Amino acid sequence: MEAQSGNDLWCLTASFKQYKVKNEGYFLEISARGLTVVSNDGNMPKEFYEPSDLIGCVCMRSGPEEPRKHLAFFTIYAYPFASLSRKKKRTRVSLSFVVDKEDTYEKNLAIANEWRSAVYSAIRGKGHTRSSINRRKKLLIVINPNSGPGKAHRIYKKQVAPILGEAEVPHEVLITKAANHALNLVRSMDLDQYAGLVIVSGDGLLYEIYNGLLSRPDWDKAIEYPVGVIPGGSGNGLARSLAHYLGEPYLANPVLVSTLNLAYGYTSPMDLVLVHTPDAQRLSFLSIGLGLLSDIDIESERLRSIGESRFALWAIARIANLRRYRAKLSFRRLHKALVNNNHKRHKIQRSQTVEEEPYTESREEGGQLSRSHSVTQVEEDEFDMNASLVKVDPVKAGENSEDDFLLNGKPEYEKQGDEFSKNITAQLQGGCHMPKLGESLPNDWETVEDDFIIIYAVYQSHIGTDVFLAPNAALNDGIIWLLLVRGDATKSSITKFLLGMDGSHINIPGVEMIPVEAFRVEPSGKSGYLTVDGEVIPWGPLQAQILPSKGRIITR
Ligand code: ADP
Ligand code: MG
Repeated sequence: MEAQSGNDLWCLTASFKQYKVKNEGYFLEISARGLTVVSNDGNMPKEFYEPSDLIGCVCMRSGPEEPRKHLAFFTIYAYPFASLSRKKKRTRVSLSFVVDKEDTYEKNLAIANEWRSAVYSAIRGKGHTRSSINRRKKLLIVINPNSGPGKAHRIYKKQVAPILGEAEVPHEVLITKAANHALNLVRSMDLDQYAGLVIVSGDGLLYEIYNGLLSRPDWDKAIEYPVGVIPGGSGNGLARSLAHYLGEPYLANPVLVSTLNLAYGYTSPMDLVLVHTPDAQRLSFLSIGLGLLSDIDIESERLRSIGESRFALWAIARIANLRRYRAKLSFRRLHKALVNNNHKRHKIQRSQTVEEEPYTESREEGGQLSRSHSVTQVEEDEFDMNASLVKVDPVKAGENSEDDFLLNGKPEYEKQGDEFSKNITAQLQGGCHMPKLGESLPNDWETVEDDFIIIYAVYQSHIGTDVFLAPNAALNDGIIWLLLVRGDATKSSITKFLLGMDGSHINIPGVEMIPVEAFRVEPSGKSGYLTVDGEVIPWGPLQAQILPSKGRIITR
């Protein structure tokens, strides 16, 4: 093995054999360009893995059944795009090599560790300037066992934990016991002890977490805390939006592409929205709505067990019986030049439209992805089942299900008195000035009073897996898109709208999309569903303003 000169001082080349594979072994090279694997007997084509496809490297020693105790091992994990697949999807590759260069285990382990470090240098792009979570601290993974079809805990165990093990991401797990468990925890916990908070659930649990952060005395700093999302619910708008911005093939395996964000652990600024109602202030990351879309979202709750298709089914039922909501709507419009500029500047999309492989349940159940690559793969169970090898320095994924976290804290928002509201508005920086609810609005606001079928404010591209509501939205462009459908829209326009929520709906006559930085809505009717990030809040007047780039989301 030799270290190379030049910029990549950590760059390595060497030949290794694979464990339990009888051939001439492989020549390996790791550098800032990626990992190259060439078979020494020339029987296999050269393989190359980009740094953005590698996720980690784990060192191992011999287990009880392996007599050669001086050996050390290292396994490199990668999730490249499948080369043979017609549609874009990622597949798992694990490459295990034996280090048998020296006569003691310690010396061989030192070599394995050098490879491990080099793999992480390639992954993290030495000298990069992107901000990231504190990788020496653990992530706290919060699971809602009742979200969506109730699979979140299994998703964690079967799909998330294995990848975090491969990428050596230290974490703890908390399973929520009831609604508001996470909110009460986040309100009082020491945020410094973790690198970030990650949810395995739908958007509802992240909403709880953000509102827990907002209700802290140090809320201004706390709402900048890194958060991550693994889709496990029936509404997974943020996870879907992130994959869209990154050009990741979400539909082929939503949990995989979302978990890879945690493996890399970078953070990106994300717009948040502060929502004012007469009773409280809330923090939102996705949407605010009333009318048809909110009604469908909430009334289809009873179909929760069927997962995300509940939206489609209920939509059909609602069109037959359209409701109109009288409301006064005011907003501060963002002008075209600014919108175009913001959009261009903040686009983090890495690739063009991704043609995606549809997701099939069987792949999730097996917990294993197809392996299309030709380097002989050591089956995972050879490590796990017969204990031939033992992982060195394993990362503990402890589950503190017997936790003593607060369950009996004060009910949601009770702490948010008038004093608190005043402070928030006074201290906010970056957002526009907002008068209080009930006070008159500045002259540069526009106001319309009308009957509406839909009023929906959205700041990320997707509000659900199949609902691409704001095709021009970006993660941190500082824009709230106000989607309006007025009361005089025809049934056929509405039907087209609901069928076309793939981005094409914005061209349907009668559908307006207005970029704003703040809005106020005052419904006249006595009742209806008002939703924030898909959760119902009390019906009544509401105003909202964007907090540009205030949040931090964990991304790759
Ligand atoms: P879904 O996408 O299926 O709606 P969410 O994760 O968004 O799933 O959660 C839905 C609701 O469940 C949220 O209001 C959240 O506060 C609540 N919740 C969180 N943990 C629990 C729990 N352990 N039991 C019941 N409800 C919970
Ligand atoms: Mg946005």
